[in-house]
Amino acid sequence: MQVKCNVLDRQFEMYRQEYEEAALRVLRSGWYVLGKEVAQFEQEFAAYTGRKYCVGLNSGLDALIMSVRALGIGAGDEVIVQANTYIATVIGITENGATPVFIEPDEYFNMDAQRIEAAISDRTKAILVTHLYGQASNMGEITAIADRRGIPVIEDCAQSHGACFGGKMTGAFGISGCFSFYPTKNLGAFGDAGAVVTDDEAFADTIRMMRNYGSRVRYYNEIEGLNSRLDELQAALLRVKLTHLDALNAERRALAERYDSGISSTKIMKPQVRKGADSIYHQYVIRCRERDALLRYLAENDIQTQIHYPVPPHLAQCYRHLGGKAGDYPITEQYADEVLSLPIYTGMTAEEQAYVIEKINAF
Ligand SMILES: *Cc1c(COP(=O)(O)O)cnc(C)c1O
Repeated sequence: MQVKCNVLDRQFEMYRQEYEEAALRVLRSGWYVLGKEVAQFEQEFAAYTGRKYCVGLNSGLDALIMSVRALGIGAGDEVIVQANTYIATVIGITENGATPVFIEPDEYFNMDAQRIEAAISDRTKAILVTHLYGQASNMGEITAIADRRGIPVIEDCAQSHGACFGGKMTGAFGISGCFSFYPTKNLGAFGDAGAVVTDDEAFADTIRMMRNYGSRVRYYNEIEGLNSRLDELQAALLRVKLTHLDALNAERRALAERYDSGISSTKIMKPQVRKGADSIYHQYVIRCRERDALLRYLAENDIQTQIHYPVPPHLAQCYRHLGGKAGDYPITEQYADEVLSLPIYTGMTAEEQAYVIEKINAF
């Protein structure tokens, strides 16, 4: 049997008729960028996350870059960010000329709140939290520290659509919740897409201007903006998927539970979920000291796995000029050596999962 790490068309087949109707509606409408579908999706996604405003964008990276920029953060400023996040989170900071200050993760792979205070300086302008692998970060403590120190929080929710902390949606804690709708995300489009959610009207207004060349009224450019518009086709397809998101997340939780109960090898550390937080299992990430051997063994048995992520941002070639070196963030580096993401996706069959579990336990 072959098990891939993701099979995107199974999700399409489940709701094929709804997707095809939505796509045709847009194709026949004669209006393709920033129109009714985008406005509708923005309303629906704001309501879903419990926020007042949503601004649809081109990508998750744009949501991060524009959120940092809209807070006026630039050269000479510092932004606190977790060291084991995806590179895009860090690019959101450096693209604005600001400096990332890395924080080690906790045992849930998220930002270790205990280490934040020590990293705050008089140049700290924001705390950028990633809800990594689909699990909500420790937002109680992080929000308390941020409030006490008067530092805004930006959330990278690219992997956490629908995940809550203390019953409140990720994306609803900071000034800005940044979402990616890249096809593999839990709420994935059929191309690139992203969004910012916020309760702050002026912030929403700035992001809305920024996404369309800095203009409110066409050809009257108030700020130097970007082109980060969301198209009607992606918005219409996202509207369909959003109505199924809770069911799709529940399916992933059930898959994760089966991994939890099925994997018995003592060589494997299964992912833990913090009390009060929940996970929508964007990834199911195990740790193993013999990770590379496990990956090879699974590949020989036709099981695809992935490493999220093999090189932490402070050691990435693109950030060599920041002066990071091996040993700077030992927990992050250990995770990079030990983590492995098992196949978990919409439409994964019980047979496929049983095969993965059987092979892992035989390793
Ligand atoms: C996917 C992802 C992004 C970037 O989203 P794009 O839409 O690909 O630009 C940012 N942060 C995290 C944690 C991600 O997983």
